[in-house]
Amino acid sequence: PIAAELNQDRLHSHCCYCSMQCGIDLIRTDNEVGWEVKPSQNFPVATGRLCQKGLNTLGHVLHPERLMAPQRRLASALPGEPWQQSGWDDALDEISSRIQSIQQRYGNDAVSVFGGGSLTNEMSYLLGKFTRVALRSKYIDYNGRYCMSSAAAAQVRAFGIDRGMNVPLDDIPMAKYIILAGTNIAECQPTMVPYLMAAKKQKAIIVTIDPRQTMTSKLADIHVNLQPGFDSVFVNSLLHVIVNEGLYDKAFVESYTTGFEEIVESVQHFSPDTVSVYTGIPKEVIRTIARGFANAETGIVLTARGLEQQVNGVEHTLNYINLCLLTGKMGKPGSGFGAVTGQANGQGGREHGQKADQLPGYRMIDDPAAREHVAGVWGIHPDELPGKGVSAYELFGKIHDGEIKAMIVLGSNPLVSSPNSSHVAEALKKLELLIVVDMFETETAAYAHWLLPGSSFLEAEGTLTNLEGRVFHRPRAFHTPGEAMEDYMLIRKLAEKLGRGQYFQYGSPQEVFEELCRATEGGKADYSGMSYERIKEHKGLFWPCPSDEHPGTPRMFENNTYYLPGGRAKLHGITPKKPAETTDRDYPYILTTGRLGNHYLSGAQTRRTAALMKKAAVPVAEIHPSIAERIRLRFGDRIRITTRRGSLVFDVKISQEIHPTTVFVPFHWGGEHSINLLTNDALHPISRMPEFKVCAAQIERADRE
Ligand code: SF4
Repeated sequence: PIAAELNQDRLHSHCCYCSMQCGIDLIRTDNEVGWEVKPSQNFPVATGRLCQKGLNTLGHVLHPERLMAPQRRLASALPGEPWQQSGWDDALDEISSRIQSIQQRYGNDAVSVFGGGSLTNEMSYLLGKFTRVALRSKYIDYNGRYCMSSAAAAQVRAFGIDRGMNVPLDDIPMAKYIILAGTNIAECQPTMVPYLMAAKKQKAIIVTIDPRQTMTSKLADIHVNLQPGFDSVFVNSLLHVIVNEGLYDKAFVESYTTGFEEIVESVQHFSPDTVSVYTGIPKEVIRTIARGFANAETGIVLTARGLEQQVNGVEHTLNYINLCLLTGKMGKPGSGFGAVTGQANGQGGREHGQKADQLPGYRMIDDPAAREHVAGVWGIHPDELPGKGVSAYELFGKIHDGEIKAMIVLGSNPLVSSPNSSHVAEALKKLELLIVVDMFETETAAYAHWLLPGSSFLEAEGTLTNLEGRVFHRPRAFHTPGEAMEDYMLIRKLAEKLGRGQYFQYGSPQEVFEELCRATEGGKADYSGMSYERIKEHKGLFWPCPSDEHPGTPRMFENNTYYLPGGRAKLHGITPKKPAETTDRDYPYILTTGRLGNHYLSGAQTRRTAALMKKAAVPVAEIHPSIAERIRLRFGDRIRITTRRGSLVFDVKISQEIHPTTVFVPFHWGGEHSINLLTNDALHPISRMPEFKVCAAQIERADRE
C-alpha cells in the first residue's frame, strides 16, 4: 500500500514524462492498483490523447522499490554498501551538522546543489534560493544544462529573451512550411503530432533534418539525412540560396533586424553545389527547401537536442533562427521559431534560478539591479548573494579539484545523464557528503551517504511551464508514501536545521509560487500577473504575464519588438566549425545518442515501469548496412562501440534509415548499458553544453556469447 488517496473518485493531474504536460485523469477502479489513467478530455494542448508513457505514469509512482524513509550508509558510500534506515529528525540533524562542518573547514562554496528540469517551478525556485540563502554557496546547476542551454543562449543572442517556443502549438496548423531539425517529435512529444497532421491537412510542407529517418520523418514530405555536426553547413546553404536569389523579406530585415551583412558574408562559400559535395545532400533538395520556406506565406522552424547538444549547438540554433528572421517568419500567426523542450519542466526549470548564472525571472546573477530586486524579495542584502557558479558538468570538475566536498542532488540522476560519466563516478566517490533526494536508489544514489525519499509528480502540488511557455497548475493527487515528504517541506526543514529557516517559512507550494511571482516581476520571464487561481481559471497562462489583468502572451514578438538594443532582433553570420572530435583511422564513425518513445531521461522511472520495459528493455545500437558489411557482422552478433572514453557492447539493429557514417544509441540506461560512458565531455564555450551528439567512434563485431 502506498498512498492514502484523497477522498475522490476522479482526480486531475498532468503527465510527468515530457514538455507537453498532457492532462490526465486518475479514475478510481477496482483493478489491482486501485486507479487507472485516462486522457483528460477537455484539457488544452493534448485533448483526449496520451502516449504510452502517459498511460503508464502510475508504474513508477506505485512501484515497490519506492523509498519510504531516509537511509544512511553505515560504512563507505560505495555501491553495494548496506543502508540503515533513519528517522527524519536524526537524518536532518546529521546532514545539517555535516554540511556546517564542511563549510567551516572549506568555506560555503564547498557544498553544492544539482537540480533537475522535471522539478516544478516552485522547487526550481526553492533550490536556487536554498543554495544561495541557506547554504550561501554559489555552486548550483541542474540537468537542464544538458538539454536547453544551447537553445537558450542562442535565443538570448538573437531575440534578447529565451522562451523555447515563440509560437503556441495552435499556430502549427497555420504554418504552410514546417522545418523540424534534430527533433523527433513523434517519439519525444507524441501528442504534438496531431498539430503537424492538422498542418498537413492544410497542405503544409514538412521537412525533417536528422541523421536518422525517425518516426517523425515518416510524416515529412522531404527528409534530409544529415551527418551529425553538419547542421550549420546545411543551413548556410539554405541561406545562400535565399540571399542570392533575393528571396529574403527585405522590409522585415530592414525594419526589425541587425546583422544582415554578416549573413551575406558568412554564406558566400556555401552554395548548394559546394555543400552538396560535402554533405551528400542533393543540391536540388537544398534549393527546394530554401525556396519553399522563403516563399511560403507562413512557416515555423522547430529545433531540439539533435543540433543543440553539440559544442557548436548555439551556432546551429542561431542559424535556424536566421532562417526565420531572414524570411520574416516571426511574430505572426503560423510563423516563428521554437526550440522544443524535452523535460517535463524544461522551460520553467531554467527560469527560476537553478542555473549557475541566473536568478529568478531570467535575471543574470551578475546584474546589480537583478541582485537588488531578488535580494529584496528574499529579505537579504544584495551583497549576501553569492556570485556566478559553474555549469552542471563542471561541478564534477570542482569536486575533482577539491573545491566542492558535498553535493545535494534532487530530481536528477547525473551519473547516467552526464557525458563521460566515469569522470562523474570518480568525482562522486571523492565527496565527503553526497545527499540524494529521489524516489528510488538511482545509479547516482548508489554513491550517496544519505538517500532521502522524494515525492512523485502525483504527490506534490506545483506549477510547470510547458514547451510553449504556458504555465499549468498540477494539484496534489496522492499523499507521499511511508515517511516521504513533499520536496518543498524537506527543503524548508533542512534550511531550519541550518539556522536559515526564517527565509523558508512556506506553508504550501502556493506560498512559494506567490513569492516566485514577485521575484520574477520586471524580469524577462515575468510571472507576476499569475496566481494559482488565474492559472486554473484559464487552464494555463503563457508568460510574460506582467499584471493581474494581463491575458498572458501565447505568441511572442507580435509587434516585432525584440528584447535587444533598438528593439531589433540580431542576425548572426555563422562560420561553421568542426565538432570537438572528427573521425580518423582509429575512430572512423560517429556516435550519436537520443531518446526513445518509451523511456524518459535516465530511465530511473520508466525502467521501473513493466509496460514500458516490455517495449524497450535494453538499448539497441542502430547502424547502416554498409557498416554491418564492413565489420562482417553475422546474424545474432552484437557490436562493440569504442570511443576515447571507453568501450561497450550493444545489441544491434541494421537500418537503411540511418546515415552511413553514424551509430545511434539511446541514453536511458545506466551501468554497462550507459552510452554516456562513451560520450564526449567537450563543452560549448558559452552555453557549456556537452558534445553528446558527435563523438568519434570505432565499431567492431563483438563475439557472440
Ligand atoms: Fe506524457 Fe508527453 Fe506522452 Fe503527453 S506526450 S502523455 S506529456 S509523455
